[in-house]
Amino acid sequence: HLRAWQEPLRAQFPIITAHPGLAYLDSAATAQKPAAVLEAARAYVTESNANAGRGTYPWANATTAMVERVRERVKSFLGDPVPERSRVHFTSGTSEGLRAVALDWLPRFLTDGDEIVVPFGDHEANAMPWLEARDLLARQGVRIAVREMPYQAGSRDYDTEALAGLAGPRTRFVAATHVHHVYGGDMNVHRIRRAVGPDAVICLDAAQSVGHVPVDLAALDVDFAVFSGHKALALPGTGAVWSRGLRGPAFEPGGWAGTPNTVGIASLEAALDWLDAAGVERIEEWTVGLAARLTDGLDRMRPYEVLGCALSLAADSQVQRRRALVTLRHDRIDAADLGFILYSHGFMVRSDGHCQARDGEPRASVRVSLHVYNTPEEIDRLLAVLDTL
Ligand code: PMP
Repeated sequence: HLRAWQEPLRAQFPIITAHPGLAYLDSAATAQKPAAVLEAARAYVTESNANAGRGTYPWANATTAMVERVRERVKSFLGDPVPERSRVHFTSGTSEGLRAVALDWLPRFLTDGDEIVVPFGDHEANAMPWLEARDLLARQGVRIAVREMPYQAGSRDYDTEALAGLAGPRTRFVAATHVHHVYGGDMNVHRIRRAVGPDAVICLDAAQSVGHVPVDLAALDVDFAVFSGHKALALPGTGAVWSRGLRGPAFEPGGWAGTPNTVGIASLEAALDWLDAAGVERIEEWTVGLAARLTDGLDRMRPYEVLGCALSLAADSQVQRRRALVTLRHDRIDAADLGFILYSHGFMVRSDGHCQARDGEPRASVRVSLHVYNTPEEIDRLLAVLDTL
């Protein structure tokens, strides 16, 4: 029933319509851009390009006003419950955003003997910076303990009961991921607050959720949310850190120092408008439907293993909800070869270890990740090719 909604949206992606023989199945790495986003970038560069936060002539003023407007747009898009208090800092993506929280903010927040919790089974961008912060503090004589976020044995979800048992009064910071970039599972981060208590700071890696599923910061009760604009249909080199500013010092990495990626920020505004107009809930329904079509097909093919298969499509149950990415392996063909074979049939997938931090999968795998422009026909063609291997 979403077909009539999706077709005109797909037609708005120039790179997709220009390559009818190719299927782009790597949107978890970066998404394609609709014409409205490209047009917003073109309009900004040709009409008012100038530096932000300095200069007093109209283009400079327009640029400064645009950047401030997009900060507010990010807040409204994320369901920010405290927009008058929170801040939005623009980055090149999630990695840079998480590093900024880890190196610019965390060392000012923690004191000797504090503990932090890190999800080592997730993306390395959400693991390495916290270890760097620990080492930085150690060189200053401040010792902090890094605890491993516990995962449930069967599913790939966080074990928030174990987390509650592990968290004590010195547990002041918890890093978590909204949607897992390999298993596609929603990590049920709304349960973390109850597990760690009212005072701990929770930092969310929302790289795989913003633009794919509705994000409601009021319901999630986190202090930081970091995402990649480029995965949410904006230009490459865009991302943001939202900080609530209720616990600890204000997050102020650099302020207006340096020149921000103004064209990227302008593109992010257009991307968020486009997503709202299309409807993120419908994008979720469409792409999760495609993911389910793929996993159903793979279930019937003996050589394939789907990673994170304990996931369920059931809404808000004790099990995880699956989002729009599916990671698989063939029992004889290695992932690099499978990726190569698939590209020879026009399918662009990711085949490697997916930057998973410690405790990751021992072997590489093939990830199929979806966005609004993908179609059931692409999935059926992919299944048909996979079935011949
Ligand atoms: N975290 C997660 C969960 C991701 O999926 C990614 C992108 N693969 C990143 C962080 C890094 O994002 P970026 O490339 O925008 O820095």
